[in-house]
Amino acid sequence: MPAPTIFKRIIDREIPAQIVYEDDQSLAFRDVRPQAPVHVLVIPKKEIPALAAAGDEDSSLLGHLLTVVRRVAVQEGLAENGYRVIINCGRDGGQTVDHLHLHLLGGRDLHWPPG
Ligand code: AMP
Repeated sequence: MPAPTIFKRIIDREIPAQIVYEDDQSLAFRDVRPQAPVHVLVIPKKEIPALAAAGDEDSSLLGHLLTVVRRVAVQEGLAENGYRVIINCGRDGGQTVDHLHLHLLGGRDLHWPPG
């Protein structure tokens, strides 16, 4: 069996994280290397390695994750000025942790296009 990812270990409370939101399907916590004043990761508790590995049966879970991002954005005071939501997928997408996660970034002017 493959070793659990760092995010699975956060879900299981084996390693600490600054959790900002939790429900039965998802967890949101602060990124350890923040790229903006607010940088939160929203993850499903279900172990989906990447967006590319999600199935059609995960549609409502994927929608739920976006709903959680919106809620956390309000909670973090980002709703008025705006924010960015990013999913890195696979090697070319720059994904480094093999557990699906949505980056919520805000609190500064974010440049476009990303690098
Ligand atoms: P990605 O490059 O899209 O796979 O993003 C992975 C993110 O996880 C990076 O922004 C890391 O800074 C973040 N990260 C890695 N380990 C931890 C951790 N233990 N707690 C919080 N964030 C983490």
